[in-house]
Amino acid sequence: MNIKKIIDSLYETNQSSKEELAYIINNISGEDFQYLQERAYETKEKHYSNTVFMRGLIEFTNYCKRDCSYCGIRRSNKDADRYRLSVDQILECCKTGYELGFSTFVLQGGEDPYFTDEIICEIISKIKELYPDCAVTLSIGEKSKESYQKYYDAGADRFLLRHETANHDLYDSIHPEMTLNSRIECLNSLKDIGYQVGAGFMVGIPGQTTENLVEDLLFLKDLEPHMIGIGPFIPHKKTPLGKYEGGTVEKTLIMLCLTRLLLPKVLLPSTTALGTLDSLGREKALKSGANVVMPNLSPTDQREKYELYENKICTGDEAAHCRVCIEARINSTGNVVDMSRGDHVDYL
Ligand code: SAH
Repeated sequence: MNIKKIIDSLYETNQSSKEELAYIINNISGEDFQYLQERAYETKEKHYSNTVFMRGLIEFTNYCKRDCSYCGIRRSNKDADRYRLSVDQILECCKTGYELGFSTFVLQGGEDPYFTDEIICEIISKIKELYPDCAVTLSIGEKSKESYQKYYDAGADRFLLRHETANHDLYDSIHPEMTLNSRIECLNSLKDIGYQVGAGFMVGIPGQTTENLVEDLLFLKDLEPHMIGIGPFIPHKKTPLGKYEGGTVEKTLIMLCLTRLLLPKVLLPSTTALGTLDSLGREKALKSGANVVMPNLSPTDQREKYELYENKICTGDEAAHCRVCIEARINSTGNVVDMSRGDHVDYL
């Protein structure tokens, strides 16, 4: 097989076979990789020109009832120093963000039963009342369709729920008491309700094969989410997967490029996990077709407690610093920041 020919056809048709995708993932390097990156970047440019959207991330609780074997805030990690932000603290983060020009707030947390539907709806409606021109994105895990509907009715616009891996066996091996089917059901409910929906996966999960990564790509092509979060798995020593190797920057970038080519209009973040592995990781992602960044607005005195993986970057930095730092990084890739809500192009 000729890699450049496969890439050309993927670029033209936004489709590829299992075999071709596997061939690229296994064999690409050097000049061919650069070629792939350029095609992915051109595809991003076609739909979003040289802009990158910014979202403000608020990590509002690290309590979690789940026990995912990769995640530092899993319930069995008794060493995790738990915290929750109050409604007022969350609103304070939004105020800081709004003053810095943000118009999307992403509320992310563990699955924390303290935050009942009533409290979540109260948070959403208060944000919407104070900042009606802003979008609210939730990333709070699996809930019933009724709950998702309540949040939507309260004003939530988007929901991020990574599928983590589209292979059932691999999914089961890292998610005690959870199933991929229920994750998919959640994604379908969210879509039905009318959310802009984000799925996504980790690269380099212990035991993950090239075929599994191809399954992720084809799953996403079929699901057609509006947003796709892709990051390397990074081990956390207080978890069962703590002793395994993590995912690589290179493999993650390849998956970003392929995702951009398969789903040309998707909103694709350049993730903090990539910036953690490589000081220029986020810039490399922006060169590979990513078009979203999510700097942190969480209070600095709590930030390092939201430790999904180790050595997470920027935990000591003020929101204003993150805003400026990330903008400089975006500019260094030839892109400019777009501080608008940044909806999916089909949603406008
Ligand atoms: N509880 C929410 C938010 C999860 S945290 C939910 O279930 O959706 C956000 C994402 O961080 C997860 O979806 C997972 O893909 C990622 N993550 C967690 N632990 C990680 C690790 N050790 N390395 C890399 N990414 C991780």
